[in-house]
Amino acid sequence: MPEKLLHRKQESYRILIESVKDYAIIILDPQGHVISWNQGAEQIKGYTADEIIGKHFSVFYTDKEKAEGEPERNLREALKLGRFEDEGLRVRKDGSQFWANVVFSSLIDEEGQLIGFGKLTRDLTNRKKAESEIEQLTTHLEERLQKSETEVFDYKQALDEAAIVAITNQKGIITHVNENFCRISKYSKEELLGQDHRIINSGYHSKAFIRELWVTIANGKIWRGELKNKAKDGSYYWVDTTIVPFLNEQRKPYQYLAIRSDITKRKAVEEELHRANEELENKVKERTYELTQALEREKELNEMKSRFVSLASHEFRTPLSTILSSMALVEHYTEPEQAAKRMKHIDRIKSSVKNLTNILDDFLSLEKLEHGSVDVRSTEFDLKEFLTDVTDEIDGLLKRKCQILHLHIEGDTSLCQDKKILRNVLLNLLSNAIKYSPEEKQIWVRAEVKGKEVLLTVRDEGIGIPAEAQPHLFSKFYRAGNAVNIQGTGLGLHIVKRYMELMNGNISFESKDGKGTTFILQFPKTITS
Ligand code: ADP
Repeated sequence: MPEKLLHRKQESYRILIESVKDYAIIILDPQGHVISWNQGAEQIKGYTADEIIGKHFSVFYTDKEKAEGEPERNLREALKLGRFEDEGLRVRKDGSQFWANVVFSSLIDEEGQLIGFGKLTRDLTNRKKAESEIEQLTTHLEERLQKSETEVFDYKQALDEAAIVAITNQKGIITHVNENFCRISKYSKEELLGQDHRIINSGYHSKAFIRELWVTIANGKIWRGELKNKAKDGSYYWVDTTIVPFLNEQRKPYQYLAIRSDITKRKAVEEELHRANEELENKVKERTYELTQALEREKELNEMKSRFVSLASHEFRTPLSTILSSMALVEHYTEPEQAAKRMKHIDRIKSSVKNLTNILDDFLSLEKLEHGSVDVRSTEFDLKEFLTDVTDEIDGLLKRKCQILHLHIEGDTSLCQDKKILRNVLLNLLSNAIKYSPEEKQIWVRAEVKGKEVLLTVRDEGIGIPAEAQPHLFSKFYRAGNAVNIQGTGLGLHIVKRYMELMNGNISFESKDGKGTTFILQFPKTITS
């Protein structure tokens, strides 16, 4: 290489080295004296080239290192290995220290002679500072982590101590249970893990309730409520429950933490209270019902009294005044040719007395029935004979013009019943049929004995019973609107119904206003008294 070119190249290197600012590039002679000093060295160490050139490089070392012979050792190492790298504290011109990375290289010429050392120094203060900051930060973080881990552990332990804890995955499969969970459910950990909560389902809660629970937690919301669960041995327990969903970055639950506390005792007390309350309410209801019934009875009694008063004033007065007036006339008709007229009035008196007797009989029967003093006395008799007797008896009451009583009997007619009661019933129905039918209409009595049962019907072609009156027909003192002009007390049918009950039978009727009525009696052929 021409000398000029070589010179220019060396010059370029020198300028390059001198202008490097971030590294101190220093050349030392074989004894360690500074012979070359660049801008970086001036910047890092504080000496100008004039101040340092010729000085021994040990000025950059601390007193302690100098005393220990560290600078010489570094040069020896570099000579031995060709290159030696070290990190440590170095001293600036102003005495301040900085952390430096130093690389020594031994410089050997072509003949193998040591001509000096290259020394490259980097100020690591900032890096060191950053490193120590990072280190501090890491330590701090580690400490905090440690602390929060301890805290979490403490919380977990406190929770495990105090509560019944279970964790499930997002599908509801149990992945963790604590001791308390096992204790209350009476299942072992092994039996519970991998199962879902159906294992402790009591079946007490509605499907809608459970659905609402799942919808809440699946939407990432906390669910709180009281649940009734079933333990392994079939016993039930109540738990106050809070289910907390744990959410992933997509805000979707990836697991659920259920924290429960045992409220079985409280629930039992509540249930007991509830039961006691219900009992009390029922008692109050019962008592109220009894009182209302008593009031109703009293009301009914009052109504009955007033009905009786109006009935007595009307039904007694009419026959009594008939008797009085007829008696006065009988007194008048003393002549033998007036015998017919006399007889007519005597008949009137007789019929009025009979009416009064009937009314009194009804009252007596009712009184007896109300006091439960009517005894059933069953006797054997023939239904056909019985009906013929009764219809003969009633024959005299038939209205003169064409009222005919038809009798029809079917089946085995031997009965074992209370003849007296049946007679009263039948007389009542027949006298009604006569009373509520116009003169030209007919009456049918039909008896049918089928197996153990007797069916007896009394049909007339009379005034009938209006629809609105039909539901009340068997009530005491009740009289239909179309019957008010015909004599009566409204007691007969009530008595008949109660008589039928005594005979273990029942009474019903079919009727159309203006078209006639059929009363139907059903009773057993045999009754034991
Ligand atoms: P009453 O003394 O009024 O006849 P009942 O108790 O025997 O009393 O009958 C009650 C009511 O039933 C009568 O007032 C009448 O309105 C109606 N009733 C009973 N039998 C008949 C019948 N055969 N035809 C039409 N209405 C009847």
